[in-house]
Amino acid sequence: MRRMRVAIAGAGLAGLSCAKYLADSGHIPVVYEARDVLGGKVAAWKDEEGDWYETGLHIFFGAYPNMLKLFSELGIEDRLQWKSHSMIFNQPEEPGTYSRFDFPDLPAPINGVAAILSNNDMLSWPEKIAFGIGLVPAMLRGQEYVEECDKYSWTEWLKLHNIPERVNEEVFIAMSKALNFIGPDEISSTVLLTALNRFLQEKNGSKMAFLDGAPPERLCEPIVNYVRNLGGEVYLNSPLREIRIDNDGNVKNFLIGGRKGEATKEVQADAYVSALPVDLLKLILPEEWKKMTIFSKLDGLKGVPVINIHLWFDKKLTDIDHLLFSRSPLLSVYADMSITCKEYEDPNRSMLELVFAPAKDWIGRSDEDIIQATMEELKKLFPMHFLGDNQAKLRKYKVIKTPLSVYKAVPGCQELRPTQKTPIKNFFLAGDYTMQRYLASMEGAVLSGKLCADVVSQSNH
Ligand SMILES: Cc1cc2nc3c(=O)[nH]c(=O)nc-3n(C[C@H](O)[C@H](O)[C@H](O)COP(=O)(O)OP(=O)(O)OC[C@H]3O[C@@H](n4cnc5c(N)ncnc54)[C@H](O)[C@@H]3O)c2cc1C
Repeated sequence: MRRMRVAIAGAGLAGLSCAKYLADSGHIPVVYEARDVLGGKVAAWKDEEGDWYETGLHIFFGAYPNMLKLFSELGIEDRLQWKSHSMIFNQPEEPGTYSRFDFPDLPAPINGVAAILSNNDMLSWPEKIAFGIGLVPAMLRGQEYVEECDKYSWTEWLKLHNIPERVNEEVFIAMSKALNFIGPDEISSTVLLTALNRFLQEKNGSKMAFLDGAPPERLCEPIVNYVRNLGGEVYLNSPLREIRIDNDGNVKNFLIGGRKGEATKEVQADAYVSALPVDLLKLILPEEWKKMTIFSKLDGLKGVPVINIHLWFDKKLTDIDHLLFSRSPLLSVYADMSITCKEYEDPNRSMLELVFAPAKDWIGRSDEDIIQATMEELKKLFPMHFLGDNQAKLRKYKVIKTPLSVYKAVPGCQELRPTQKTPIKNFFLAGDYTMQRYLASMEGAVLSGKLCADVVSQSNH
């Protein structure tokens, strides 16, 4: 086997996973990241007081086989803090109370069915039965059926199965917002069906874990160290500026660098990988390639806006060691990170991390407006903490906006997602938007990197 040098642009989870698996196969990955931080959409920073803030609140699921394998291959499984096997929803109509789906310790799908049947706050029996019948084709025909349903939004899918709109309001507005930061009228039913299939078919599929600290240090750095130990290289502050092509239309070199007046350099390799987000790849594609079907289809994949909010309070607001689905119009999921995450622990004061979605009408607004609106929502959810004598005070906040985050998974997107292999013989794609069965997620990003490493290795024969 020829040992290949492979240039990878982007040190998000897809680029790092690709580098890791190429290094495992005996190749030399060289990763170029534009920013001064690892992780892309899992990037995080420390404020002046040493408190972390993140691009997004991130949850790991039991149904993430490639991510879990990566943790075990890196020897860092103990960094995942697994929570009780439950899904917990706020009850906005009864502030301060929660409705739970608790999964008993039984095989799948019995544990999932038991969790749904034993919850009587959110769904009535006729709704549960209609929904259960609707899911039968997905359970029996699996992925083939799930892919066929990409022509419908989730709301359309529910209508087709005579499932009352109320089910959306009770459960699926919250789930669609958690999965893709948009509502059920917009999201492709493939996304919800994929998640439900994994949750119902795998015993621990919906079990959730938090990382024990910030992802760049606790997950990305171990991958970088692993890659470097095997002879690979990783560079920060090294943006890909241009993909230069030769007379045959293949990649001649990557033009890298040029930050803050520095010179750019031409980087040559045996193979080249883009692990850029889809919106940025589109901007950098050579003109000569843009008409090729695989690349022209990318026009239909667009990042969705989302906002991640951090609120540091002067007292404890909850004692719940878990993710919560807010069921609030402006907010999606949130967690008290002072409880759920070891490195962010504070015995006396809460730090809420909240995902604000859908964010399209808010992404251009000021941080102050966004915080004010968030606090109004929190007052509805927890009036006991914000009214009366002993009110919780907001000590500080941080708002992180991502105007183009993961691709917006609207109906028809599955057909637009590219394979990791392209018609260009020395150019490959990694990234959560590329075709793999886990949609836009950390698991999807890691799997895409692994699949990309496979096709790069195969191109060597
Ligand atoms: C708010 C939020 C919450 C989320 N919650 C979850 C969750 O709970 N569970 C889950 O599984 N997933 C979640 N996700 C999704 C998950 O973060 C992404 O799917 C995943 O991290 C994407 O990885 P990626 O490597 O494909 O892309 P990215 O992380 O976007 O990586 C791309 C990298 O390329 C770099 N880059 C860009 N341009 C250039 C250039 N010209 N040259 C070199 N480098 C460049 C970027 O800086 C970045 O580092 C969430 C995302 C967000 C935003």
